[in-house]
Amino acid sequence: MYHGKAGPVAEPAGRVVGRPELLAHRPDLAEVWDEADAAFPVRVTRSFLDRMNLDDPNDPLALQVLPSPSELVPAPGDLDDPVGDLRMSPLPWVVRKHPDRVLVLLTKRCQIYCRYCFRRNIEHGEQDPSDAELRAALAYAKTSGAHEVIFSGGDPLAVTDEQLFSAIDAVRPEVPVIRVHTRAPIALPSRVTPALVAGLQKRAPVWVIVHTNHPRELAPDVDEALARLVDAGIPVLNQSVLLAGVNDDPSVLQALSEALVERRVFPYYLHHPDAASGNAAFRVTFERGLEIYAELGRRVSGLALPAYVVDPPDGSGKIPVSTLS
Ligand code: SF4
Repeated sequence: MYHGKAGPVAEPAGRVVGRPELLAHRPDLAEVWDEADAAFPVRVTRSFLDRMNLDDPNDPLALQVLPSPSELVPAPGDLDDPVGDLRMSPLPWVVRKHPDRVLVLLTKRCQIYCRYCFRRNIEHGEQDPSDAELRAALAYAKTSGAHEVIFSGGDPLAVTDEQLFSAIDAVRPEVPVIRVHTRAPIALPSRVTPALVAGLQKRAPVWVIVHTNHPRELAPDVDEALARLVDAGIPVLNQSVLLAGVNDDPSVLQALSEALVERRVFPYYLHHPDAASGNAAFRVTFERGLEIYAELGRRVSGLALPAYVVDPPDGSGKIPVSTLS
């Protein structure tokens, strides 16, 4: 039974950078800001900003979170449902692509909004499920026969500890394995509090899958957040997206993978970018992606080599890019 109340976690003032500060560094974005923000919110945490070089218009971290004029221009290949989430949704806030896994979206909110996000255009109406919707989603997951429930979003750590723990408890003991897919340890590392870690540790097995794309995202406060999770015995894996201008370079991916392994984080997936409308500037061709991946494979150990996958729009789930003809 779910006992939490749907809604966002309260964030102390100062954790999110205001528009005037960002525009003071990047006045060139003033013209597109309102329209881009209305289509998909612009939000940057102080921690993430501290890792960005705002004086460089091609900074790989700034590119991920600051709007650009290209977002507002339709592009060939744009898709409304790029990975088939909508067609594979048996009820609101649930995605089911595989018999052994169920995805439950706890919120649409995120600590930062990544401009390339494949869910940038998916409408759920409200930002958070109603209590009734969330109860229904969790009841579905609990009785689904699945071995794993994946809490996602938005970002599942944009809800309170109480809400997250209650959601986990609501599907147990029927579902043994919980996965929390979150960018919070990277975007807002202070969210990984001792209380959160203790609550997840108590509910083992809980796997935390983080999301980082560039080695410069791994700042000292991120290292501490990741170490808090790993030291508690919580398995931590990483997902990256192959992004033009950010990490479409074997050297960057090598540095990222090796830095993750040093931090005891397994580089799990390298996702081929999904073609959501507004993210065309980040797309990489399959041919170029395979070249980059082949070179990465020559450079790193098996421990540091993520699986390069694509999530096709038919909703059939991830497949290795190498199997595409
Ligand atoms: S944190 Fe994840 S869900 Fe949120 S905008 Fe970034 S990629 Fe999308």
